[in-house]
Amino acid sequence: MTARVLDGAATARAIREELRPRVAALGARRLRPGLGVLLVGDDPASAVYVRSKTRAGDELGLFHETVRLPATASTAEVAAVVEGFNARPEIHGILVQTPLPSTVDTARVLRLVDPAKDVDGFHPENVGLLVQKRPRFVACTPAGIMELLAREGVVLSGRRAVVLGRSDIVGKPMALLLMHADATVTVAHSKTPDLAAVTREADVLVAAVGRAGLVRAEYVKAGAVVIDVGMNRVADAAAAAELGPDRGEEFTRKGYLLVGDVHAPSVRERAGALTPVPGGVGPLTIAMLMSNTVSAAEAAAGSSRAGG
Ligand code: NAP
Repeated sequence: MTARVLDGAATARAIREELRPRVAALGARRLRPGLGVLLVGDDPASAVYVRSKTRAGDELGLFHETVRLPATASTAEVAAVVEGFNARPEIHGILVQTPLPSTVDTARVLRLVDPAKDVDGFHPENVGLLVQKRPRFVACTPAGIMELLAREGVVLSGRRAVVLGRSDIVGKPMALLLMHADATVTVAHSKTPDLAAVTREADVLVAAVGRAGLVRAEYVKAGAVVIDVGMNRVADAAAAAELGPDRGEEFTRKGYLLVGDVHAPSVRERAGALTPVPGGVGPLTIAMLMSNTVSAAEAAAGSSRAGG
């Protein structure tokens, strides 16, 4: 058996297309959804993510403005930018690209974001609303995965789901969303003994650990739906050949491979469905950021798309 490919990129395109009429309706009311982006330091991966997000905004006709601060910026300087975005009515969504430099108090900065503009869903108020099953803004990566599962017709009610990873931005909100969809959810992490025995229970397995190829065939129940959140850059030739045996030409061209937390060559032969890396969860994350920003603009315009 070869796993069905869950095409996150195609689903992300569909989500973005569905936003167009909503953007046009706002435009008819002379309102253009606006995204304020804060990028601190010179982490190349963060710069790539910000570029992808602002490019998606351009394609959809959103307004966006990126403020860049040096890696030496203080918490107060970062906070001042966030408060500036909070105060501007043409900015409906605020994106603070993480990780922030270790000298910046990230939790404090994220708490300063106006919850009504918190399109990443990281503010404690929005996290609390999600916990209470009254979601307003939900973290984009898990929200995108739920969209994919729904559109692919994956049944969650009554199924066993295992989330590998317990971060605030992926693992925890993912587990809550799956629980709210009536799955029976287990969260595993670095202190979980016999990880493979736990993950093998899963009808739906979400891997968000940041370890290239950790999830191998023996971690997966035959026929399971496997969602690979991991985004790992592998520059070692032997490791790349092992993780992506069919991607030799790409490795030669780029000098590295982007691979997931799932060992695709072996899991592909055991799972029922699998998201690719790249082209799986990454594009969905960006699509949901666009969706949340449009919802924020609609809420600001007095309509009620953002729920709450
Ligand atoms: P994170 O904050 O570093 O959290 C990783 C989690 O994995 C932690 O809970 C950690 O356990 C657990 N873990 C680490 N090593 C493990 C191991 N050997 N066995 C079992 N559990 C282990 O990472 P994150 O922000 O959630 O991101 C995870 C991955 O997803 C990364 O590759 C990241 O680049 C990617 N990502 C992709 C997108 C996208 O849009 N595609 C978005 C966000 C993140 P402890 O809690 O015990 O330390």
